[in-house]
Amino acid sequence: MTTTFHSTRSTNDSLTAKQAIRKGIADDGGLFVSDALGKTKVDVASLPGKSYQQIAAEVLGALLPDFTAEELGQCIADAYGEQWSDERITPLKPLGDDYVLELFNGPTSAFKDVALQILPRFMAHTTPADGDADEKIMILTATSGDTGKAALAGFADAPGTAITVFYPEGKVSQVQELQMTTQAGSNVQVAAVEGNFDDAQSAVKRIFGDRALAERLAGNSHVVLSSANSINVGRLVPQVVYYFSAYAQLLADQVINVGDEVEFVVPTGNFGDILAGYYAKLLGLPVKHLVVASDKNNVLFDFLTTGTYNRQRPFFQTISPSMDILISSNLERMLYYLSEGDTRLISMLMNDLNKWGTYEIPEELLAKIRQIFGTGWADEDQVRESIKHCWDEHHYVIDPHTACGYYLLEQMPRDPLTPRVLLSTASPYKFPRVVNEALGFDATGTDFECMDVLAHETGTTAPAALRGLETADVRFKDVVAIDGMEDYVEKAAQAL
Ligand SMILES: *Cc1c(COP(=O)(O)O)cnc(C)c1O
Repeated sequence: MTTTFHSTRSTNDSLTAKQAIRKGIADDGGLFVSDALGKTKVDVASLPGKSYQQIAAEVLGALLPDFTAEELGQCIADAYGEQWSDERITPLKPLGDDYVLELFNGPTSAFKDVALQILPRFMAHTTPADGDADEKIMILTATSGDTGKAALAGFADAPGTAITVFYPEGKVSQVQELQMTTQAGSNVQVAAVEGNFDDAQSAVKRIFGDRALAERLAGNSHVVLSSANSINVGRLVPQVVYYFSAYAQLLADQVINVGDEVEFVVPTGNFGDILAGYYAKLLGLPVKHLVVASDKNNVLFDFLTTGTYNRQRPFFQTISPSMDILISSNLERMLYYLSEGDTRLISMLMNDLNKWGTYEIPEELLAKIRQIFGTGWADEDQVRESIKHCWDEHHYVIDPHTACGYYLLEQMPRDPLTPRVLLSTASPYKFPRVVNEALGFDATGTDFECMDVLAHETGTTAPAALRGLETADVRFKDVVAIDGMEDYVEKAAQAL
């Protein structure tokens, strides 16, 4: 079976992986999926002893077959090299009777580096759809904090690309904001937006759907827009690799034997990280459950317990900003696969979501989903208590996103036969003030003073790139209204 991609909402398209990656999102607003997913399995028995890069070659080879082994090898070598502070890339560490998979040892200290270090390299191997050799891809991203910096770091000065990032003004941490506004590179633009993340993301989706704008950008500036949000299939599939890497490390440490099932607990926002775990399962990884951990914005918890997705609810700005999301875009892919490719159903549901802010799935579908996906959520006090509990019990410092998952680990009954892996999505040094408050350390100074206190009190070290932000030059100070975003994009394209 050849691997082609089409929308979750229709089967008209037939794109190669390269084309799907270059395009980002389907014309009908759906996300690209392939019906060949899971037809080629990854041989789990062959994992032990393999490096992260070798595992990546195998997994990505199965998911992106139109890339040659040489192309993938080059992308992987460039993306998972010296810029990572641990040669295992995503090291697995014991945490009491459980395990933590650290996904934050990349250049921006958040798990999004795993995908965004390699996405620009994938894009370099794609070619313009209409043969315009001067065509540039402009990545357009709305970020709740971590995606923006990770995308900027990946795309800065990457040939044939440019990147524009919007973040919600006042809704990201000082460190997150500085990470973005100090970004170097001649092809980058960063602006704060007057609104929350969902407002910004909705505006970005509208910009993508604006045909007239697309024509002006192509005609005047040779620019096509593409997405680095986790709706891009090239952003999603690299995340499948670390589930296999976790399994390989459990095998190597003789915690499990080949074929034993493992449970993953995943701090979730846009449903990209955890969806990658489902892809891993389809590729043959023995995954028992995937547990969706949410913060106070518990729209996914409600959905997974009732079958009704309802975004008509208050939006909470919490201490885990990267999970403050009311519309989890990648859920659409999960619904596609678990409804056995029912594009009509998906298209109806997404239409309902658009029109009424809510949809309800059939009972049988909910039952199928619940066989695989568990769920729970933590409020902000529980997040703080979890950070403290984890430090007191295990002498391991976690960030507020990881803490949502840790809270569930503590709540869920433990099956002694099934190892549990908590995915740790950010370095605690990205949120030093909240972490210090939770741990009872001094949190009165700047974020940078908080980092120094955290390092001193816990004997850990702040990532140099984060600590160095204090003295880095701020390049971007723009604040734009939601309805000024399109204009901002057009100006950025003209300036290229
Ligand atoms: C993006 C992010 C998440 C949520 O991941 P999704 O793929 O959007 O579900 C969780 N934690 C941190 C730190 C993140 O940056």
